[in-house]
Amino acid sequence: MEPLSSSFFEITMLKLLFLSTPVGPLASGVGGGVELTLLNLAQEMSQRGHKVTIVAPQGSKLPDLPCQEISGTWQEMIQNNHRDTPIILPENSVLGNMWDYARKVHIDHDLIVNFAFDWLPFYLTPFLDAPIAHFISMGSITDAFDEIMNRVAINYPNTIGVYTRSQAETFPFNNICRILGSGLDLSLYNYCDTPDNYLAWVGRIAPEKALEDAIEAAEMVNIPLKIFGKVTDEEYWQTIRQNYPHAPYQYEGFFNTIELQKKLGKCKALLMTPRWVEAFGNVAIEALACGVPIIAYRRGGPAEIVQDQRTGFLVEPDSISGLVDAINYIDKIDRKQCRRQAETDYSLKALGDRFESWFYELVEQE
Ligand code: UDP
Repeated sequence: MEPLSSSFFEITMLKLLFLSTPVGPLASGVGGGVELTLLNLAQEMSQRGHKVTIVAPQGSKLPDLPCQEISGTWQEMIQNNHRDTPIILPENSVLGNMWDYARKVHIDHDLIVNFAFDWLPFYLTPFLDAPIAHFISMGSITDAFDEIMNRVAINYPNTIGVYTRSQAETFPFNNICRILGSGLDLSLYNYCDTPDNYLAWVGRIAPEKALEDAIEAAEMVNIPLKIFGKVTDEEYWQTIRQNYPHAPYQYEGFFNTIELQKKLGKCKALLMTPRWVEAFGNVAIEALACGVPIIAYRRGGPAEIVQDQRTGFLVEPDSISGLVDAINYIDKIDRKQCRRQAETDYSLKALGDRFESWFYELVEQE
């Protein structure tokens, strides 16, 4: 992680314009973990006295933060694009409309913060006068995106932020990314010392998350698996239902933070089985905040979060038997250590310090 802010900068309050993900409204779950990161960061920056305005697709639900809602057609989710998939913008694109709004108001702001993993905001960077911080929320997906991001990374030094080192390493510009991690409002998550006898899996239900591996492991140890999250790929979900007719899993639904943490806190462990290089895995730190250990494949963000044998287990990627072995040892993990790790590494303050020093540097270097 990057060094914390210098006290020199802490006098100036910034006017920040946050441009949200264009794949759906905030708090809908379609955008995944970046929705939570944006909201937490906006709250923390406001708390520190900065003026934050969020620009987001119409229908976004925000707790007491100024939001300019923008209409238009959402961007397609791009997780399953191929390397050569071309850039796609629909008619009346909400992404285009959001940046049209940004163009009109940007001179009233010190910094634009882009949370969209998409081509257009990078392409537009030279056309706007305010500096732009780009927070990238996924690993590399297409060549066209990499190319435009690389151009911005080289021409606008220090403007690309990422969650983790492993995520950065998927990009050609990996050595010039700012590593920012994530963080939570820990007051919303209660520590639970006495779990019930079930496992949890939390996330967007989509192929890159490989829910089927968690279901297979749960079936082998015969411990119920509760599944929380938005179904973003219905065909994939129906295939899972057909393939595992007798496995002990239960789809619980998609919940807001308060409800999710109540249910998640009672589980013995969170299984994280992503097939892709997960950029971070906000669900991991949410589990830790509740005192829930994590069993994750040793790849991507979770491998940087989980302290192996201390706050969970890291197992060989794609190994179901590795998951099973770890489940059998899960009672060895002290749940208090999990909560402690969340408090040390992933508080709102820690998140705010990392981003705030980055923002000050970008405004200063203008
Ligand atoms: N989530 C939620 N309610 C649920 C299940 C999941 O709000 O019932 C949220 C969770 O809090 C997290 C996000 O979904 O912020 C998943 O993000 P993660 O970073 O783990 O993965 P991504 O979807 O970004 O790949």
